[in-house]
Amino acid sequence: MMKSDVLVIGSNMIDLITYIDRMPVEGETVEAPDFQMGFGGKGANQAVAAARLGSKVSFISMVGNDSFGKQQLANFKSNSIDTTGVGVGSKSSGAAPIFVDPTSDNRILIIKGANNELTPAVLDNYIDLIQNTKIVVLQQEIPLETNYHAIDLANEFKIPVLLNPAPANKELDINHVSKVDFFSPNETELSTLTGMPTSNLDEIKRAASRMVTMGVKNIIVTLGSKGVLWVNNTNSELIPAIKVKAVDTTGAGDSFIGSFAHYYAQGEDIPVALKHANQYAAVTVTRKGTQKSYPTATELLSLTN
Ligand code: AMP
Repeated sequence: MMKSDVLVIGSNMIDLITYIDRMPVEGETVEAPDFQMGFGGKGANQAVAAARLGSKVSFISMVGNDSFGKQQLANFKSNSIDTTGVGVGSKSSGAAPIFVDPTSDNRILIIKGANNELTPAVLDNYIDLIQNTKIVVLQQEIPLETNYHAIDLANEFKIPVLLNPAPANKELDINHVSKVDFFSPNETELSTLTGMPTSNLDEIKRAASRMVTMGVKNIIVTLGSKGVLWVNNTNSELIPAIKVKAVDTTGAGDSFIGSFAHYYAQGEDIPVALKHANQYAAVTVTRKGTQKSYPTATELLSLTN
């Protein structure tokens, strides 16, 4: 039987990054100066971050029956992620065509493809994986019903759950959210979910406290270069970010979630795990790329000493 430290249930996507001078208008073909492919998807990113830090990571996800799917599987394996729970669907692999203009502004399309085939019924094939982990990590690029089922199953086996409600979805059912141990939105997602403003720290504290009164145990609001705010029934604490020169913040949120899950699974207390996750995420923003910017435990040691 497979035992893991961290079980991620979620998405994988292939990022198709096209660097453009300008967008074509209708009917026009324009040459673009550069192109890059990257491994992404919030679930996959978080799994890779935890695995690079040395956690035994299992992943439940769906790839498409195409060459992208094969490349995804190879990438999971090369990051030592257990792929017992990765299935092959009938739709295309998840893909994200991204257009980056000369001022670094992005336009992003998301095709979820096989990620939408990760239905609640699929999870029933992997009860063993859910029962035998230290923490279950969820995001919102797969059907909401699948996340609800994952939360119910993990609760049944008393396994802690971390839900990262990204991208934000107003339909998210608060009854299920109140059954997770860790709920980690950014300020925009927190505002979408509560309908409250979150433009300064006081407003963010108020919105996070509202979620605590709705039954959420621990809210961890990620605040970019300001760090994280941790709020629960007895505590409200700002854990400041590490000061660094940021060059690329794509995937920083995922590196934070994946590394927090790793440190928590290692037995660290919540504030210590948050401090370490801040440190991990800070290193990733100093390097270009998404998964490419996630250091291993050894690299992290050499970069922070
Ligand atoms: P975000 O998703 O932008 O809120 O970022 C997630 C986490 O990454 C933050 O809570 C920080 O730990 C870290 N982070 C993001 N941007 C920066 C930055 N400019 N400097 C240092 N840490 C950062």
